Amino acid sequence: MKILVINCGSSSLKYQLIDMADESVIAKGLCERIGIEGSKLTHEPAGKDKVVIEKAMPTHQTAIELVMEALQSPEHGVIKSTDEISAIGHRVLHGGKVYSDSIVVNEDVKRVIRECFDLGPLHNPANLMGIEACEAAMPGKPNVAVWDTGFGMSMPEKAYMYAIPHEYYEKYSIRRYGFHGTSHMYVSGETIKFAGLDPEKAKVIVCHLGNGASVSASIGGKCVDTSMGLTPLEGLIMGTRSGDVDPAVVQFICNKEGKDVNEVLNILNKKSGVLGMTDGISSDFRDIENAKADGNHLAEVALDAFVYRVAKYIGAYTAAMNGVDAIAFTAGVGENDKVGRKNICSYLEYLGVKIDDEANNVRGKRTMISAPDSKVKVVLMPTNEELAIARETKRLI
Ligand code: ADP
Repeated sequence: MKILVINCGSSSLKYQLIDMADESVIAKGLCERIGIEGSKLTHEPAGKDKVVIEKAMPTHQTAIELVMEALQSPEHGVIKSTDEISAIGHRVLHGGKVYSDSIVVNEDVKRVIRECFDLGPLHNPANLMGIEACEAAMPGKPNVAVWDTGFGMSMPEKAYMYAIPHEYYEKYSIRRYGFHGTSHMYVSGETIKFAGLDPEKAKVIVCHLGNGASVSASIGGKCVDTSMGLTPLEGLIMGTRSGDVDPAVVQFICNKEGKDVNEVLNILNKKSGVLGMTDGISSDFRDIENAKADGNHLAEVALDAFVYRVAKYIGAYTAAMNGVDAIAFTAGVGENDKVGRKNICSYLEYLGVKIDDEANNVRGKRTMISAPDSKVKVVLMPTNEELAIARETKRLI
């Protein structure tokens, strides 16, 4: 069985064709600058050379058509016809309060995606375009929606309710949702297997540390808390996002700088995080580390604050679950930055966390990085959101 996984952004479309027999990637690629001049498709078929196809892609529909052509092309294709594709799995950002479990797309699912446009203004419209483009290009094939908010939907009310007037929850569904759901679901599940934990009871904290970053706590693979909220702005310090701030900061900046709320929220989303803290050095953690090595004080503070906030969330989630069996690190920073992992864990000695420095000297490979006598298992577990989406799609069809 072959499953096509689609992840649409507002001007991009990532895809992977996965053979579910052995979960191998047959081809993957990326369409960039959809709807903008200079669009191109980078297609990477397994076992063949990568190709870059520069062609106008005014819409997601044309992008999907080009992807289909590339997948079936005599030179760099990997299938003879789309008949070989059993189903398409889509990453969809927001399912609101309505959907948590992955679901085969029907008219009601599309209605909900549309109704959640204001909860995910950059992603939900693109996700819907991706689904409709696949419906047009491959009529009759099942499309499955896998929600980025899905994992967080099992949080109890005490974790997801904001302490604001209840009418806003009733009227506008304002609550904490959590994001990176497919990653947290995949990494927590794989960590339970890898660390040999009880699948029903294991208490796992996943630190998804990339450009966007979030922490989740789960018991038996079910999320009990996660750091992102109504939007992906809450929680950790990220590449460009502030994470938690006193909301009064928004009012203060508005008044002092003569800006409106939308402008300040844009600053908190796009110009804050380690980028903002370092006065604009970079949103890329490698650049911040280099600046720190060159003696830049702001870079040092930004990295310290990033690590400190992750450690505080781990402490909070350990309390929330009354214990923790395993802590997993994943995504760009989590998988590659051994110093960051070590520094975060140095706050956790009171939990009996002990890192094995030799084991921790690793990148992007699933590894037990805690010492044999560590009370909590610490794991590097590379995320694989595409595979998680493909598995969900297979399960549903
Ligand atoms: P996203 O999917 O949210 O865009 P990724 O999970 O791809 O993010 O992570 C990107 C981040 O990973 C970048 O900020 C990059 O600097 C960071 N990263 C990659 N390699 C390293 C490394 N060796 N040390 C520190 N950070 C790294």
